Amino acid sequence: MGEGYMATNFEKVVSLARKNSIWPLPFATSCCGIEFMATAASHYDLARFGSERMSFSPRQCDLLMVMGTISKKMGPILRQVYLQMAEPRWVIAVGACASSGGIFDTYSVLQGIDQVIPVDVYVPGCPPRPEAILDGVMKIQELVHAEGLRRRTSEQYKDLLGSYGIQ
Ligand code: SF4
Repeated sequence: MGEGYMATNFEKVVSLARKNSIWPLPFATSCCGIEFMATAASHYDLARFGSERMSFSPRQCDLLMVMGTISKKMGPILRQVYLQMAEPRWVIAVGACASSGGIFDTYSVLQGIDQVIPVDVYVPGCPPRPEAILDGVMKIQELVHAEGLRRRTSEQYKDLLGSYGIQ
């Protein structure tokens, strides 16, 4: 094979394309959402990662970014948004509130969104700085790049969804 040729396989090409064109759905309910706005603005420039196209429709996004305090009342709505996303889909819990309820250890606040939907990456902090949010996006990129095309139809993945009552 001469110069200018590269051999690869279909799976790697798909992973590369997915990794660099992740469309986020910002589910922002409070202060962490403001940090996300800074992340998307020119200084931190989320566009560098192919993720400048925010989707406010669950049907047209890959990455659910949950930023802020989620009340127990809001849990079913968050779950509904997740269910409306097409596979393959990924989830980041941005900040202490989305990850664990944060400082709001109260009767009304969900103590982590992983009680209602599966989470791929947790970003710590209250609030996390934009660098930390970018780091979370890069962690998602690593997962997307390493994910095989068959994962979403695997028994393990079905079991994971089954543990959340999702068929
Ligand atoms: S983690 Fe902190 S900054 Fe983020 S939503 Fe909760 S209270 Fe606000």
